[in-house]
Amino acid sequence: MRVTELDLVHLNARFEGAPPLELLRFVSATFGFRAALLSSMQKAGTALCYLADRAALSFDVLFVDTGVLHVETIHTRDELARTHPNLRVITLYPDHSFAEQTRQEGLLYLSKEGQERCCYLRKSLPLRRVKGRYDALISALRRGEGGARAKVQPFGLDPEMGALRVHPFHALSNDELEELVSRPGLVLNPLHEMGYPTIGCFPCTTPVLPNEPERAGRWRHLANVTYCGINPVDRGKDDDVGIDLDDRYRVALFGGSA
Ligand code: SF4
Repeated sequence: MRVTELDLVHLNARFEGAPPLELLRFVSATFGFRAALLSSMQKAGTALCYLADRAALSFDVLFVDTGVLHVETIHTRDELARTHPNLRVITLYPDHSFAEQTRQEGLLYLSKEGQERCCYLRKSLPLRRVKGRYDALISALRRGEGGARAKVQPFGLDPEMGALRVHPFHALSNDELEELVSRPGLVLNPLHEMGYPTIGCFPCTTPVLPNEPERAGRWRHLANVTYCGINPVDRGKDDDVGIDLDDRYRVALFGGSA
């Protein structure tokens, strides 16, 4: 069946403001192993992993290692894999090391056009390689982050991946997130306590001052770059696009009879 943004209106109304676990359980029951979590090992992502694991929900967790991540982020991934037995952390890699890429194309991340290509090669393409393996990709985007994410819905479309995007934290407030990340057993990337509210590749991420916006440390060297583009919500949406999903999901997603 073809699913467009318009088809999601009722589904989004049904799950608007729903507790994160309700959405996680629904996605697990509907998609089973055809659903995966996406995490870059920032606190909202590891909080989502924690909730799923403690509810005994079994998901793959897709983590893209760009080859230029902080060692703390890699350790966070390893600790999460070690302590969350219901989850299978799968690391995806770019084709070339950062050094090989730099030899071939120069230091891409220093210019706006180069950054787009670098993020495409090192983040989007590795994820694209698992296209077809999942029908639902779950991520920890929140309206509370502001910017392009202020309008994130419970469900969205990812035409590049041919999958639904699911946002169990769409309505989670900053205070609710902080309460979650304080729970015993939740794995927290230590960079958050070193002045990094958000975390990406080390060449493009700095700590931020207390009076700066949370994302001020992302691509600080490039004016007007806020997102890498791996999340469709950050790129804006087009009502005309659609994805093809197996008919077996029709009743769970849209009601009616089989
Ligand atoms: S965040 Fe920077 S280093 Fe990482 S993939 Fe994007 S441009 Fe390259």
